[in-house]
Amino acid sequence: MKIGIDLGTTNSAMAVFTEDGEVEILENETGDPTTPSLIFVEENNGDGDQLTIGKNAIRKRRVNPDRVLSRTKQYIDSNQEKTWKIDGNEHTPRDAASYILGHLFDQAEKRLEEEVTGAVITVPYDFGATGRRATEDAAKLAWGEDFEVHQVINEPTAASLAYVHQMGTTGTVLVYDLGGGTFDATLAKASPSLIQVISTEGNRKLGGEDLDDELYEHVRQKIIDEGLTDPEDVNAHTRASLREDVTEAKERLSDLKSETIVFEADGDVAEIKISRSEFEAAITEKIDTTFDKIETLFEKDTVVEAGITPGDVDHVLLVGGSTRIPLVQDRVKDFFDVDPKLSVNADTAIAEGAAIKAAEYSDLEPENVPRIGVGDVLSHSIGLEDNERKFNLFLEADTGVPEDETMGPYTNPQANPKHLEIPVWEKAEDGQDLGDINEDPDDSDAPERIGGLTFEDIGDVEAGEMRIDVTFEAKPDGTLKVSAEETEVLNRTIETTIEGLGLSKEEIKERREGDEDRTGVDLVDEFSGISEQDEDD
Ligand code: AMP
Repeated sequence: MKIGIDLGTTNSAMAVFTEDGEVEILENETGDPTTPSLIFVEENNGDGDQLTIGKNAIRKRRVNPDRVLSRTKQYIDSNQEKTWKIDGNEHTPRDAASYILGHLFDQAEKRLEEEVTGAVITVPYDFGATGRRATEDAAKLAWGEDFEVHQVINEPTAASLAYVHQMGTTGTVLVYDLGGGTFDATLAKASPSLIQVISTEGNRKLGGEDLDDELYEHVRQKIIDEGLTDPEDVNAHTRASLREDVTEAKERLSDLKSETIVFEADGDVAEIKISRSEFEAAITEKIDTTFDKIETLFEKDTVVEAGITPGDVDHVLLVGGSTRIPLVQDRVKDFFDVDPKLSVNADTAIAEGAAIKAAEYSDLEPENVPRIGVGDVLSHSIGLEDNERKFNLFLEADTGVPEDETMGPYTNPQANPKHLEIPVWEKAEDGQDLGDINEDPDDSDAPERIGGLTFEDIGDVEAGEMRIDVTFEAKPDGTLKVSAEETEVLNRTIETTIEGLGLSKEEIKERREGDEDRTGVDLVDEFSGISEQDEDD
């Protein structure tokens, strides 16, 4: 059985495409369509870490907020080694993803009463090769090195897939995705057979939890005005409880006009009443910033060149729990002058899209499987490092992934090199002027080395004698094949697939068997580099 998984920052969901041609949401043990992506590490009783995942972890967080791993996905695409230490044990973002995925797989198999052998998993549009690969490795760590991650696809693309398949939505679509921790807006052209993404813009640091913060500050001020102790000065447990109450009140304010929060500290009790309009006033600036991003999206070269303006948007697809807020829906309607689509569930649309893609790898009769192609844009610029440590732009961020692209010729800067290495890098910013490669460990946006090719056993050559053409080729599963052809000295072609730096099958096996020492593959440290050579040299 193949399933689709939305491994979210705040909540995760799963779905499966059935024999009847329907998408079925795989509910968890408590019958909920989504599971909070939250891990509570139980007190270590000597048997290794016992984990509680999902709704129960939220409950336990009220009592013990320090034993929780939350929003771990925000760090999985980073080249910085962020870890959480509880009872002396370290947990990486990839570990956290594997705990959540392991829990989800268990739930899926219980629901389906069948073995799950593979999945399509979604990631944010702006994940680079590292985050995509770490997500894939996390699934294998959770489920075994032979578990198949058939594709890692972008969240907004998956949501569009769900709408195209479930609702027959076609035309120019804008996916407005406001989840727990992130916002993104994706513009795409959708037909029954293809979703062509034009461009995406977003804010990785804006989501429902920021709206919680705004409401918390508002409630806190009201508590102080009532003459009670400032919630920031009470114990961690009371503060954590107030935060949970604020989030619950926020969610209820999507349906109700007012809500009451009870706050108790130092023997005093206050009932704090909040109206929906107070909440809206508290978050309006944050919601404004999502529309600033949408304006930026429509100013981007790719969108301007495609001649698309906000007036051309036929459908706005709402995705993410925070789009249930009436103010968000009203603002979307005002901006685009269209009624936003709510028909596919905002919480599960991404998982549904992933399930539709996963069906292509299932053993369902081919004629029963929807085949909707996806044309995505690159999240990062990809290029080569040359001999002067400069980034040679190959594929530019925010452009479509070309079928193939060749650059060169390059040559060897030194005579008789033992080996010649062609490192491949990615860089988050778009634009041609990418400057020097910098390896600042504190800069999470710094360019990242995602792979490379090495000519070995070169033998005697003069400096500048070799001629190497490098070709990048997009494969249907979303990975990039890079090949380098040397035509002057070696007459040899070498190739590799860029999947980010991750774990090998053996490493996954060893880690699953408890070997904690090995955490990643080694890079070849020695830099030899290549340099560009003019065609008529
Ligand atoms: P997601 O990342 O898509 O699962 O969205 C999670 C976010 O949606 C969290 O910040 C939730 O508090 C928020 N959310 C869920 N339901 C509602 C609701 N009914 N009204 C407002 N926000 C909601």
